[in-house]
Amino acid sequence: GLQAVKCSGCGIRLQTVQPELPGYVPEKALDKEPVICQRCFRIKNYNESSSVTVDQDEFLALLSRIGDKDALVIHIVDLFDFEGSLISGLQRFVGSNPVLLAVNKTDLLPKVTNWNKIRNWIQKQAKEQGLRTTDIVLCSAKKNHGFDRLLEAVAEQRGNRDVYVVGATNVGKSTFINRLIRDYSDMEQELTTSRYPGTTLDMVNIPLDDGHFIIDTPGIVYPWRFSEIVSRKDLAAVMPDKPLKPAAYQLDSGQTLFFGGMARFDFIEGAHQSFTCYIGGGLKIHRTKLDKANDLYANHVGELLSPPSKEDADAMPEWTRHEFRIPKGSESDIYISGLGWIKVNGNSGALVAVHAPRGIRVLVRPSLI
Ligand code: GDP
Repeated sequence: GLQAVKCSGCGIRLQTVQPELPGYVPEKALDKEPVICQRCFRIKNYNESSSVTVDQDEFLALLSRIGDKDALVIHIVDLFDFEGSLISGLQRFVGSNPVLLAVNKTDLLPKVTNWNKIRNWIQKQAKEQGLRTTDIVLCSAKKNHGFDRLLEAVAEQRGNRDVYVVGATNVGKSTFINRLIRDYSDMEQELTTSRYPGTTLDMVNIPLDDGHFIIDTPGIVYPWRFSEIVSRKDLAAVMPDKPLKPAAYQLDSGQTLFFGGMARFDFIEGAHQSFTCYIGGGLKIHRTKLDKANDLYANHVGELLSPPSKEDADAMPEWTRHEFRIPKGSESDIYISGLGWIKVNGNSGALVAVHAPRGIRVLVRPSLI
């Protein structure tokens, strides 16, 4: 009966009883082929998502099931939001299984990027997170770059094992899985891909020719990423879809930059120096005096400082302030999860602050570019 029927979009077990819960499908939609849950239907047809998401504990329990298996784990992260999309403690959950790190969305970095530096940077950051990666593959699902390399690595390292694909939401996991399905399996139905968080709800097994499986795990929703807290219509402004255009600002202390009305950067103390913003093109950068910044925000959020619209700004968490002292001679980024980063170019040190919605992860890291 219906108990065993799974959504061919996201893999969730279907039910016809509770519309607000995962897997709901209206009775009459059961005759259609293939059967997909209402959520996938809406995402597919109207680009609409609902608030059904995977619970963190459930997700971790699910990950630790991988630890009991002999498996190859592919962890997909988003290069634009590396710290925000890396699953912290992944190694602990997957045990001694090898982890292949696929770093997606390379197309978003500016054309002039030094890829060797990026690769070393990723290696170092992953190691610091306790991840023992067998390989790091840079790729772009969108541009179809690095995929052959990734598939090769999978073929080399898989041996006689199943492959688990894990990642946060919005890192491009579905896009990647669909590519695998197209290349490697007879499955007709593509999984739902969408711009919206939490599309894949349950593990989906994709049979391979040799009797093994590629297992797509649900995307975990990380609430510290900008992409998870903005309204649907502002997601396009926050999440870049074109290469970042670095914007350099020569600032004196006592100046502030607003990124639309999403966040703000204050240069509080330090010699005149330049800061380079790597922020999606959908957000206008507005420069002002630090001592006018509070008033400007209070009076102009949703207008001059937008997106978000006034209404959406009201629905977002209040801002918190994060202060950082950048030491002399350091090459640092001030990173705002899911929004981008500001590179400090001067090497004379600086005192800076970021104002961003409560809960958004803000930190200083060695500069990526
Ligand atoms: P999932 O939530 O991890 O399954 O990610 P999806 O495959 O649904 O992709 C999430 C969003 O990221 C979509 O808007 C994709 O178009 C976008 N995306 C996926 N891969 C890439 C990529 O390589 N580059 C860029 N710029 N965007 C990507």
